[in-house]
Amino acid sequence: MPYPNSQKYFEEAGKFIPGGVNSPARAFKGVGGTPLFMKKAEGAFMYDEDGNELIDYIGSWGPMILGHAFPAVVEAVRNAALGSTSFGTPTVIENRMAELVCSLVPGLDKIRMTNSGTEATMSTIRVARGYTGRDKVIKFEGCYHGHGDAFLIKAGSGALTLGQPSSPGVTAGTAKDTLTADYNSIDSVRKLLEENRDEVAAIILEPVAGNMGCVPPKKGFLEGLRKLCDEHGVLLIFDEVMCGFRVAPGGATERYGVQPDLMAFGKVIGAGMPVGAFGGSDEVMSVVSPNGPVYQAGTLSGNPVAMSAGLALLGELKKNPHIYDDLEAQSAKLENGMLEVFEKHGITVANNRVGSMLGFFFCEGPVESFADVSRTDTKFFSRFFHSMLAEGVYLPPSAFEAWFVSHKHDDAVIQRTIDAADKALASMN
Ligand code: PLP
Repeated sequence: MPYPNSQKYFEEAGKFIPGGVNSPARAFKGVGGTPLFMKKAEGAFMYDEDGNELIDYIGSWGPMILGHAFPAVVEAVRNAALGSTSFGTPTVIENRMAELVCSLVPGLDKIRMTNSGTEATMSTIRVARGYTGRDKVIKFEGCYHGHGDAFLIKAGSGALTLGQPSSPGVTAGTAKDTLTADYNSIDSVRKLLEENRDEVAAIILEPVAGNMGCVPPKKGFLEGLRKLCDEHGVLLIFDEVMCGFRVAPGGATERYGVQPDLMAFGKVIGAGMPVGAFGGSDEVMSVVSPNGPVYQAGTLSGNPVAMSAGLALLGELKKNPHIYDDLEAQSAKLENGMLEVFEKHGITVANNRVGSMLGFFFCEGPVESFADVSRTDTKFFSRFFHSMLAEGVYLPPSAFEAWFVSHKHDDAVIQRTIDAADKALASMN
């Protein structure tokens, strides 16, 4: 698959943009080669600047649950922009959005909009600290919560892919307040809580980890965290930026039936526009300014164009709950088909799937923690990634990212992917 235009544009980008990209995960650093420059996308397909058609398993890293250029979203964006791209005043669309999200997510009484998932998770931590009067936070190795200072300690996603899980530029003072535990290990959390008694404000996690591949919570893990939080007066924060509205209409909170104190959202909530949000119970959110003392703000927060896009998408999801059954069925078909093809070619692979989030790891299973994830054969993944690209399938360009299936990945698209994998693996022998 030739891509001379992408090569030209990437060279040009490097002159003005660090590493040629506005977010490191796009740079193909984990797999090598030139990132493709996209021109347009529709449904399950993206089209690059060289006119190549690609089946998309990134979905803009999560938001495109109904596929690209979903008509109701496009229409909503167009209409909103005609009204103005921003007012800097309250608008009714913000009320509708808050009302809809609170109706979808269990235990969510109040929600505040932000412009990114990073802002949302940063704000949950500030609220938890303000509410408890404590400084320390427990996170899990391999979980990614955006690029806020407190989170770039043993982080996942691009930070992991680039070998920068803990970043220079984060002060020692900040790093000392972030404690890291092992995903799916209640014992590791209990130990930290006992060693830091009355000092921990919050435990934050991806309730389905998607930034080290897809790693679901083991049975009893989320319940165990809830119990420990209650015993130690610690707030439980679910970072639902990736799995919110993805693994169920009410996210992981609904799917697993464990109630966090605070939640962070992003991705699907903005339908591809720059949106995040955080929220929780009336009581915890009462500390947020202007009513409470914990300051949090944003010039463009609740932006009318972004809200209109998100409202249109979430409205569709609420109106058509069968979408989640369809996503489950299509994703299972992809999972099974891929496993058959890997087996046919004698490839050792472990996999996890939660709804339409999938993770394949080139190692023996089970994969339940960061230590397990780290065993995946990244060199093999890179070769597989490029062979799939050559067959017209765009996987996340890292062995440590989840694959996303959209509602537009129908039988034909799934079969085409499985056939492409068969050819790709044959070409690698
Ligand atoms: N939290 C999770 C679970 C994420 O996956 C991400 C982004 O990948 C973030 C937070 C940060 O969101 P954003 O990139 O919108 O700042």
